[in-house]
Amino acid sequence: MASGQLSRAEALACSGCRHRHACHVMLYSHTKSQLFGRIPIKYIILMQMRFDGLLGFPGGFVNQSQESLEAGLCRELMEEVGVALSVSEDDHVDARRAPGTSPSCPRLITHFYVKKLEEEQIREVEKASASTAKDHGQEVLGMVRVPLYTTKGGGGLPSFLSHAFIGNARSQLVHSLLRLRLVAPEDLRQALERSLKTHARSAADLQEALALTEAEQQPS
Ligand code: AMP
Ligand code: MN
Repeated sequence: MASGQLSRAEALACSGCRHRHACHVMLYSHTKSQLFGRIPIKYIILMQMRFDGLLGFPGGFVNQSQESLEAGLCRELMEEVGVALSVSEDDHVDARRAPGTSPSCPRLITHFYVKKLEEEQIREVEKASASTAKDHGQEVLGMVRVPLYTTKGGGGLPSFLSHAFIGNARSQLVHSLLRLRLVAPEDLRQALERSLKTHARSAADLQEALALTEAEQQPS
């Protein structure tokens, strides 16, 4: 097991020492659809734009005194995507210690699950999350699909990976892409290399944007 990683049982054994547990899940399906009628999309992987402007997976804190990890995750899914989905212990892939979220929550253990759905179910999740889900427009600003292809100009996965993610969501995504072979390892390596370049360009863009606000502040 990788360093810092815990099994589900080890993570639960930490309950006595004031840890809070949070569970998140990667929902995905196979698809035959193509971008521009020629680029295979291959898989639909759902992430979300969170209230804090970061990308993450659906899920959240579990009330350990009242519910199991999986029951808590399903409750969070109901709130965030508006569909009742069953995620089980068998779908648990990783648990690890994360920096706490506040002084009142100094210790956090994040659990990660992966669940494969039918394409139709994924589309249902997308519809419900933008309409009936309680958290829509509040904790969740919108669901997004992860592009797995790379366009000639370096768009797609490289750009997506250069965005900002909550906690270890980016490594959870990359790890899942590798483990489930949703992207070939060599393609993923190249995408990450391009992503670093995109990230550097974003930093330059931000400097330019900052200069704009400074110009606004000059006395006329
Ligand atoms: P949430 O209620 O979804 O914001 O999740 C509870 C806490 O878990 C958040 O305050 C984050 O700090 C943390 N968290 C959310 N998503 C992830 C993630 N993918 N990896 C690690 N920590 C996360
Ligand atoms: Mn959440």
